[in-house]
Amino acid sequence: MKWQKILNEIRQEIQPELGNGKVANYIPALSEADPKAFGMAVVTTDGEIFTAGNATEPFSIQSISKVLTLTLALGFENENLFERVGREPSGSAFNSIVQLEQEGGIPRNPFINAGAIVVTDTIITHCNRQSGADLILDLARKLSCSGRVRVDDEVARSEALWGNRNRSLAYFMKSFGVLKNDPEEVLQAYFCQCALEMTCTELARAGLYLANDGVDPVSGEQVATHAHVNRINALMMTCGHYDMSGDFAFHVGLPGKSGVGGGILAIVPGVCAVAVWSPALNKAGNSLAGTLALELFSEKTSLNLF
Ligand code: GLN
Repeated sequence: MKWQKILNEIRQEIQPELGNGKVANYIPALSEADPKAFGMAVVTTDGEIFTAGNATEPFSIQSISKVLTLTLALGFENENLFERVGREPSGSAFNSIVQLEQEGGIPRNPFINAGAIVVTDTIITHCNRQSGADLILDLARKLSCSGRVRVDDEVARSEALWGNRNRSLAYFMKSFGVLKNDPEEVLQAYFCQCALEMTCTELARAGLYLANDGVDPVSGEQVATHAHVNRINALMMTCGHYDMSGDFAFHVGLPGKSGVGGGILAIVPGVCAVAVWSPALNKAGNSLAGTLALELFSEKTSLNLF
C-alpha cells in the first residue's frame, strides 16, 4: 500500500476544512490552540511510520487517555469492571449527568466522563506505591516508546480549576457507592490523564497493541489480552465519539476515540493505528477536520471494517 501518497493526498484535500468548527474553550489552556493545525500519523503493525502535516507537535490528548486507563483497569479487574460501568452508547454529551440518577450512579460506558472517572477510581484502588497519575503516565510513555510524553501541568491545573462538572459527577457517583476512593484523589488522577501531551506519531505508536490483539508488535510485549482488546475496540466503535459515535462508525467504519484537544486515535485491526489532530471541533466535541481526514483515510485505503 502506498501509505505516504495517501497521507499526502489527505493533507491536500483536508486543507479547505481546517479551521471549520470551534476550538475547546472550557479551559483557557486549550482555547489557545491553532484551529488550523493538522497532523496525522500511521504506524503499521510492521513498525513502519508514515506522517503528514504536523505529526510531531505535542497536543493535549484529553479523552483519548480513556483508552489507556480502560486498558489498565481491565487488566486489574477483568470483566468485574463492568459491574460499575456499562457498555452502551449514552446518546448524551460527554460530560452529561442526566442518566446517572436514573441508572443508580452507574455510567453508561467507560468513555463518557463519568465512566472514565469510575475507571480511574479502579486504577487508584490497585496502584500500590505509585500514584494513579504516574501509573497512567508510565503506560503512555512505555506504549509510545517516548520519554518525552508528559502531563502538561498548566492544562492539569486548568482542568482542576474549571472541573466543577467532573467534580459533580464524581461526588454524585460516590453518593451511590459506585466510586470506592476519595473523589478528590480520583479527580486529581483524572485531570492529569486528560492533560497528557503527545504527538500524533507517539499516539499512533501507543495504540499499536490495539491493532495487534494486545501484543506490541515491535517489542513483543503483551500489553492486554486478546479478549480485552476485543472489548476496547468494540467500545471505541460504539462509544468513542460520544453522541456522534454512530456517525463516526457510519462514515469511517473503524474503532476510534476522540478528545477535546482535537486528537483522534483510530485502529485498523491487524493493520495499523492512526492518529490525527486538528483542534477545531464539531458539535459533539470531536475534531471536525480529524474526522474528515479519517473518513478519507478509510475510503482511500478501503480499510473500513464494513
Ligand atoms: N478534560 C475533558 C473533560 O473532562 C475531557 C473531555 C473530552 O476530551 N471529551 O471534560
